[in-house]
Amino acid sequence: MNMKLDPWGSVNIDDYSKLFDEFGIMPFEDICSELPDPHRYMRRKMIFGHRSYDLITDAMKNKEPFSVMSGFMPTGGGHLGHKMVMEEIIWHQKMGGDAFVGIADREAYSVRGISWEKCRQIGIEDYIVSLIALGFEPDGHIYFQSESENVKDLAFELSAKANFSELSAIYGFSGETNVAHMVSAITQSADILQPQLSEYGGPKPTVIPVGADQDPHMRLTRGLAHKMNMFRIEGREDKDKNKFFSVRSKAAPEGSLAEIAERLPWDTKLFEGHIDVYGADDYNKLLETVRDVEIENGGYAFVPPSSTYHRFMSGLQGGKMSSSIPESLISLKEDPKLAAKKVKRAKTGGRVSLEEQKKLGGEADKCSVYELLMFHLVEDDKELAEIYDECICGKRMCGTCKALASELMEEFLTDHQEKRELAKERLDDYGL
Ligand code: SF4
Repeated sequence: MNMKLDPWGSVNIDDYSKLFDEFGIMPFEDICSELPDPHRYMRRKMIFGHRSYDLITDAMKNKEPFSVMSGFMPTGGGHLGHKMVMEEIIWHQKMGGDAFVGIADREAYSVRGISWEKCRQIGIEDYIVSLIALGFEPDGHIYFQSESENVKDLAFELSAKANFSELSAIYGFSGETNVAHMVSAITQSADILQPQLSEYGGPKPTVIPVGADQDPHMRLTRGLAHKMNMFRIEGREDKDKNKFFSVRSKAAPEGSLAEIAERLPWDTKLFEGHIDVYGADDYNKLLETVRDVEIENGGYAFVPPSSTYHRFMSGLQGGKMSSSIPESLISLKEDPKLAAKKVKRAKTGGRVSLEEQKKLGGEADKCSVYELLMFHLVEDDKELAEIYDECICGKRMCGTCKALASELMEEFLTDHQEKRELAKERLDDYGL
């Protein structure tokens, strides 16, 4: 079966494991143990997949620079789904990442027709204020696409490396797609690669926490990062089975391969279009040298970005969470008491009668109240595991969970909204 992921369409990803087979996304649980203190989304497998996250775990371990970047399209109110991305960004910032948050106003303008004024208002009021309230630190970078000369200039350069056929293969664009929509797709690639510009310290691993529907942006951007780079390093073997590296030029300026050869402490052979390197026992040094020469020659030497993929919460009434169905979600600005009532009306995985529930146990895996507890409201894994176990063996009734979840939701929103008021007074600290 061919899955189609559409970052601008409705989300319907019914079997996450298919993403591993069809798109080459790797299971996150294989790498989670490398992290000393993984976020609850990681521990509980809500973050289920990644691309090249080993670059990020290595950077964390070796205390080397890395970045985290994600964006929000300012089309409507921030809700618990957006909170997930915000928390992931903040967690990586706490782990030492240089954090970037882009408000995708060019995308909102081109794809949804939202005015610039409205984009700014929604961007600040609904996303940035909540992001700060959740703990984003001022040493990170928050910006609007339309106001970032870096992003606009880089998008233009990247667009020289992409053509219509590629964009339609990735996004399903047709002859009816407006040009600004295509520009906004490339602008997102510029958002993702911006943390690697020299103003921010140059090439480095960068992780983009996203929902699985956003993978097309990752594929486009990783491809563009490769295309922009002047050199490619390949591991090879000669006829006597000796291993060596070959540094291949991809339209690099004349003389740059010789510059690389001069700086390397190993045996090199210079050919037209490539150099072979023998006896290199330090791949990182080789990579660093190639990157230095590329940057000195006006290139970017981008590290193809890494990504993490999280599951989506279902709607409170079951089915999909959708901004057009207010009963399906909880907004971060929602009246806490009304939100608590919504939780009490949410669909559970309970059985038709108490007797049946006691006999068969509840279906926590199909329960939106349990999802709220697992995604947002219970930090302690042991407490959550107890709730799960009591549910499935019929010891727990849905009324108990609803009472707990609605109380915790009211507390969370009351606290979050107090912090939002404080955040509004701190916008200057973030250059806004
Ligand atoms: Fe959901 Fe709790 Fe009912 Fe189980 S007992 S189905 S976790 S509400």
